[in-house]
Amino acid sequence: MSVQQEAGVEGEALEVWIDQDLCTGDGICAQYAPEVFELDIDGLAYVKSADDELLQDKGATTPVPLPLLTDVVDSAKECPGECIHVRRVSDRAEVYGPDAE
Ligand code: SF4
Repeated sequence: MSVQQEAGVEGEALEVWIDQDLCTGDGICAQYAPEVFELDIDGLAYVKSADDELLQDKGATTPVPLPLLTDVVDSAKECPGECIHVRRVSDRAEVYGPDAE
């Protein structure tokens, strides 16, 4: 299964971003989903592009690959900083994370 394939709720594409202002740097996300999250030398977690590039712009998002959806959602649930946000691409509504309804 291609990692390019994107996850979705009812078929909708999802993306994930991290609020570094709240990140504690514990690295739980990078343990759960190292293909998506990585700690930088500043000790904070960032999302990565499909090309494995660290995306350091504030609020940068990356698509959630379908095979990694569970790992990404678990990361958001376990994140001590409550700073991992998973949202629908189409309307930017948060579906997993501290701002999900
Ligand atoms: S789990 Fe949350 S607080 Fe911990 S490193 Fe990842 S984004 Fe930061």
